[in-house]
Amino acid sequence: MSGWSSPHLLGMRGLAREAIEAVLELAARRRPHAEAQAPPLGLLAGRTVANLFFEPSTRTRTSFTLAARRLGAEVIDYAVAAGSTVKGESTVDTARNIVAMGVDALVVRSAHAGTPVLLARHVDAAILNAGDGAHEHPTQALLDLFTLREIFGEVRGLQVLIVGDIGASRVARSNLWALRTMGAEVTLCGPPTLVPRAFEALGARVAHRLEPELERADAVMLLRIQHERHRAGAIPSVREYARLFGMTAERAARLRPGAIIMHPGPIHRGVELMPEVADGERSVVLRQARNGVAIRMAVLELCLEARRRG
Ligand code: ASP
Repeated sequence: MSGWSSPHLLGMRGLAREAIEAVLELAARRRPHAEAQAPPLGLLAGRTVANLFFEPSTRTRTSFTLAARRLGAEVIDYAVAAGSTVKGESTVDTARNIVAMGVDALVVRSAHAGTPVLLARHVDAAILNAGDGAHEHPTQALLDLFTLREIFGEVRGLQVLIVGDIGASRVARSNLWALRTMGAEVTLCGPPTLVPRAFEALGARVAHRLEPELERADAVMLLRIQHERHRAGAIPSVREYARLFGMTAERAARLRPGAIIMHPGPIHRGVELMPEVADGERSVVLRQARNGVAIRMAVLELCLEARRRG
C-alpha cells in the first residue's frame, strides 16, 4: 500500500501522483469484489463507517455504502433531517458524538467548503470528503481518472474538455487538480459568467466557445448548472445555455473517433446533455457510476489502514 499515508481524503489539490496511483491500483484489484463477481472481503470487518450527508446524493452515498459493505464494514446513515443539526448542533459536535459510539470513518457531504478539513482537525476518525460546497469532490475525480485510464490506457497527454458551470463545480475543481497531476491537458469551457479566466492560473485553458474545442478533445465532461449555489437570476437563460453549450448529437458527431462523453450525474437531459448523446455509444456515464464502487472501496481501505497504523 505504498504511496498512501493519510487517514483522510480531503481533496485532490496537493495529492501526490504516487498517492493517486495507489488508489487507482487498489481499485483495479478490488473491482471484481466491487461488482459482486467475487464474494465480499472481510478486510474491514469490525469497522464502522458512517455516512454524514448534509446535501442530497444518489451515486456517492450508494457507492460508499456498497463499498464499505463489500469490504465487510458495518455502515450507518445519519439522517440529517431527523438529527440534531436542525436543532442547532454544530457539525463538529454531531460528528464527535457519532464517532464516540464507535465509528471509524465519516463520509461527509456538506454545502460548506472546508467542512471535511474542519472535521479532520477536530474529530478522531478517518474523514472522507464526499463533496464540500463548490470546493472539492475527490472520489468523483478519482473514479473519472480510473475510467479514463481504463478506456485510454494512460491519462498523461489526454485532452479533457470540461463544459459547464465550472465556477460553482466541485467536480471541475477536483478533476482539474487530478488531471493536471496525472499529466492531462484540461480545457474549461462555458460562458464567461460561469467560467472565469482566473482558472488559467490553475493550469487550465479557458474557452468561451464550444465549437472550436470539439475536434481536439479525447474526453468531454459535461457538468450540470449548480442552481443550488447561485442566487435566483444569476443564470440568465437555461435555454440559451443549452443552445450554446449543450452536447447535441450534431456536436457529438464532430468529436474525434474514440472520444468519450462523461458526466458525474445528475444529468439534466436537454440542457447540458441531450438524451440521445447521454444514452449513445460515446457515453460512459454508467461506467463512471459503476467504477465509483471500486474507487470508494480503495479509499476506505487506504484511509482506514493508515489510521490503524497511526
Ligand atoms: N453529483 C455531483 C456533485 O455532487 C455533481 C452535481 O451535483 O452536479 O457535485
